[in-house]
Amino acid sequence: TMNRERSEQHYNEALEHIVGGVNSPSRSFKAVGGGAPVFMEKAEGAYFWDVDGNKYIDYLAAYGPIILGHAHPHVTKAITKAAQNGTLYGTPTELENQFAKKLKQAIPSMDKVRFVNSGTEAVMTTIRVARAFTGRRKIIKFAGCYHGHSDLVLVAAGSGPSTLGIPDSAGITTNIASEVITVPFNDIDALKQALDHWGDDVAAVMIEPIVGNFGMVTPEVGFLEKLCLYTRQAGALVIYDEVISAFRFHYGAAQNYKLFPDHKAIEPDLTALGKIIGGGLPIGAYGGKKEVMDQVAPLGPAYQAGTMAGNPASISAGIACLEVLEEPGTYQHLFDMADTLTEGIKEAAEHNNIALTVNQIGGAFSTHFCNHEIKNYEDAQNTDSELFSQFFKLMLNEGINLAPSKYEAWFLTTAHQLKDIQETIHAVRDTFSKMKR
Ligand code: PMP
Repeated sequence: TMNRERSEQHYNEALEHIVGGVNSPSRSFKAVGGGAPVFMEKAEGAYFWDVDGNKYIDYLAAYGPIILGHAHPHVTKAITKAAQNGTLYGTPTELENQFAKKLKQAIPSMDKVRFVNSGTEAVMTTIRVARAFTGRRKIIKFAGCYHGHSDLVLVAAGSGPSTLGIPDSAGITTNIASEVITVPFNDIDALKQALDHWGDDVAAVMIEPIVGNFGMVTPEVGFLEKLCLYTRQAGALVIYDEVISAFRFHYGAAQNYKLFPDHKAIEPDLTALGKIIGGGLPIGAYGGKKEVMDQVAPLGPAYQAGTMAGNPASISAGIACLEVLEEPGTYQHLFDMADTLTEGIKEAAEHNNIALTVNQIGGAFSTHFCNHEIKNYEDAQNTDSELFSQFFKLMLNEGINLAPSKYEAWFLTTAHQLKDIQETIHAVRDTFSKMKR
């Protein structure tokens, strides 16, 4: 097996200084049986090199943003130029106009945009704006959809569709949890029941239109159409959390993707963005219908601000990233690579008699160790965690970097080439043959 001595040393030191040794719990190996996470030193294109000199093919893409691969020259150039011109102004810049226009062109449901610093901030603010606009308190969300770490969305499902949520984290009051209703994804009846029960009090229904947080999961045909219809009948707003999904499958958001031929019927009132639109630097953004967005300060009564918001470095990186994504053939390449890889993985699973459900959408896919379909969070929970942990660790030793979570997707980047895919398929074959059931 691979020597990762230095990673272990760094991790032991990190444990002394940084809580849990990591700056985001998703980076810890706790969910896959523990051990030191790998300390990476350099990244370029589809590859990582760790502090012990091992090389990896990366399918984490930093949980999504790195769609162009690491250190893409066009993005690096834009960031360098921004750094040379000063990274933070605290004044408006014309770059922000350029970027806002670019995003609006790609996502027509947004009449107006506001830039923030993370997906968490973007989502958190859409809820405040929806409450300001409707004068209502509650939100409905879907089990297993992660919407960042603000209080309201860190609330898990209660039991049954008309029960209120329970806090998913210490430090969140039951008062706050009582403002959140959680229903199963793809369950339109549960949503309808919740709206019938709490409707007059519901400010918004929040959803990932294509789920990225318990595998890649699409809504069933007609689900979003009905969601929008019922939500509006109840006088509430529709919020799409497109932090993962925007610019992931095509040049635009999931709401404009070909999977949903009737875009108008599924158009949200507000959209939250992040990840890819920052080109690898910190960013978030939210936008939506003019009359809703006009609630936001300084125009309206809903306050939201940010010292770092719209900083020239993040905006420049975002513009540069979108410029590359816009080029013809970009998404076809992502799709082709993912297609070849999933074919190889499925074949290897069959050959080794391993039950595996693969959900692929464009250049992203999930692999669940089970023999049922994944339509909601419960389906994803009901998969073999032990088998995933073995898979994850063996793949790491083969030089393949995946997320240490059975729920997380594989993300292709424009830097991945056929030889990387073939090498990965080899690693998967070897790994499957070594796995003990
Ligand atoms: N929404 C979704 C759908 C996400 O996947 C994430 C992050 N994984 C967030 C919001 C939060 O974004 P951030 O980590 O930038 O705060």
